[in-house]
Amino acid sequence: MDTTLPTAIELQVVTPERLVVSASATAVSLPGKSGCLGILPGHAPLVSELAAGVISYEREGATQRLAVSDGFTEVLPARVIVLARTAERTEEIDIERARSARQRAEERLKRLPDSQDGDERSQVLAALARAIARLDAVEER
Ligand code: ATP
Repeated sequence: MDTTLPTAIELQVVTPERLVVSASATAVSLPGKSGCLGILPGHAPLVSELAAGVISYEREGATQRLAVSDGFTEVLPARVIVLARTAERTEEIDIERARSARQRAEERLKRLPDSQDGDERSQVLAALARAIARLDAVEER
């Protein structure tokens, strides 16, 4: 049996439309629902839901970032797979669009009565979280 630990992680980020990232990384950080998941090669297998946020990974000494929302991840010792409704690499992010989305969501939240709970509030909060994730990915918050 081969007991040597892997030295790299194959990271794949997939949405219903496309393969967003397929890269070999030395470390991956994921926005887990209950906090940041730091993954190194050889990590124990796990499955987790992701929060809207930033995935970052180290590749050839540089850090790459992308925004993600509505995702799940499967972590294996030498592979991390992310399936998400949306994911954008930093160079794909339209900063003005994300700023407008954040502003729209903030204004809608202010107009929602405090008593308003449920679907509308969760939708606005989710839109706000997606916009903030995109701005965080490009470090423009
Ligand atoms: P908006 O209100 O600006 O449409 P949204 O959060 O409602 O934002 P989503 O439903 O999450 O948008 O995404 C719809 C599509 O648009 C997805 O393919 C997503 O990758 C893309 N997208 C959304 N916002 C941006 C952005 N700021 N830059 C680049 N692509 C974006």
